[in-house]
Amino acid sequence: MAPSKTAEVIGAGLAGLTAATALAQRGWTVRLHERETEIRAIGAGIYVWGNGLATLEALGLYERAADGAHVGPVLETRDHRDRVVEEVPINGPGQARVLTIMRDHLINTLIDGAAKAGVDIRTGSEVVEASPDGGLVTRSGATSRADVVLAADGVNSRIRRQYDIVAHRAAARQGATRLTVPRRPGFVPDRDQSKYIEYFSGRRRVLYTPSSETSLYVALVADEDDRPASRIPVDTAAWIRCFPHLEALLGACAGVPGRWDTFQFLTLTRWSMGRLAFLGDAAHAQPPYLGQGGGCAMMSALGLADALSGSDAPVDQRLRDWEYAERPTIEHTQRWSHRLGRLNYVPDAARTPLLRGSRFLPRLGASRLRAALTVPTGAGRFAGSAAGH
Ligand SMILES: Cc1cc2nc3c(=O)[nH]c(=O)nc-3n(C[C@H](O)[C@H](O)[C@H](O)COP(=O)(O)OP(=O)(O)OC[C@H]3O[C@@H](n4cnc5c(N)ncnc54)[C@H](O)[C@@H]3O)c2cc1C
Repeated sequence: MAPSKTAEVIGAGLAGLTAATALAQRGWTVRLHERETEIRAIGAGIYVWGNGLATLEALGLYERAADGAHVGPVLETRDHRDRVVEEVPINGPGQARVLTIMRDHLINTLIDGAAKAGVDIRTGSEVVEASPDGGLVTRSGATSRADVVLAADGVNSRIRRQYDIVAHRAAARQGATRLTVPRRPGFVPDRDQSKYIEYFSGRRRVLYTPSSETSLYVALVADEDDRPASRIPVDTAAWIRCFPHLEALLGACAGVPGRWDTFQFLTLTRWSMGRLAFLGDAAHAQPPYLGQGGGCAMMSALGLADALSGSDAPVDQRLRDWEYAERPTIEHTQRWSHRLGRLNYVPDAARTPLLRGSRFLPRLGASRLRAALTVPTGAGRFAGSAAGH
């Protein structure tokens, strides 16, 4: 019997865990390096759209990931006077699917899936060098060579810095504080409790996201140089001034540990060189306005495992085929999420009619949600499940 192919995966985030598990499930021998001594979820809750859900289904992890998740009926956008200006019905027949899940639950589900598939998970293992011939060096000086090396080491990828492959990288000048508070009545009117709601006011946004029966994920979005808005712990008075109708919710954020991150946009000239490939945020980071950075990372990681396992072509050719298949949808999504960030700079009085008008353009909605409605390659047997039920 031929020996199994070997993969070294760098980074145990959504991209690395998905790729490692999918490859191990296809018979590869996989080692996953995570520089931290413990694999941790960063952020509070996460929107997982149809493409991410189909990926979880293909990995056999959907039931566990969805256990305790929140299934909202609609995504609403509200203006500075708390008026609904846009509504996207979700999770009904023929509509886009999206669940919100606590990040630690999602990451733990993926870790267990990787371990069950036989992935050799090495925590406290920082990779300092990786090369197109499949070579890899860790901080402790250990070296190895594999059939493929996957750099899923995040937006600030150290491995990517070794090569001159960044085509475009821009900090979005906006960021968000993410935190979790216990769900309580009174934050929003009773009829709105289970909705996903994005509130605008001036250049700030508040995202209200139930993420389990007991947990509410709150994101406070603002310009990077809006000091009061980006302060940790949250300056609740500064936020309540813009969103007086959310006083109870914002008051509950006082003293809660949160995390501020600035948004980034990144494209590469190419996603692979020889046997080395970049995936997830290391290859295609995007601002989170479509909630698709993680979904794209998982979708593309599954497609990568499929491309690597589905033919006898040399590895470098298969990596190029994978990029050719995945890149158009991902770049389309990156562009849309970048554009949606510009809404922050539209004055309130102009933004309300703009968003109200957009609801009469169904093709615009479908275009924005293109990645969410895509069935990832590798998830073929679940085709049709990404949109509707
Ligand atoms: C405010 C905000 C909200 C978001 N909301 C959503 C959402 O609702 N839905 C969604 O789909 N996406 C969302 N995203 C995007 C999503 O979080 C990211 O796209 C996704 O987590 C990227 O996963 P990744 O595996 O590529 O990278 P990461 O999660 O960054 O993982 C990289 C891993 O590599 C490890 N590492 C780094 N360097 C090394 C090294 N040299 N050696 C070994 N290990 C290393 C790191 O420790 C880390 O564990 C959001 C992002 C932000 C900022």
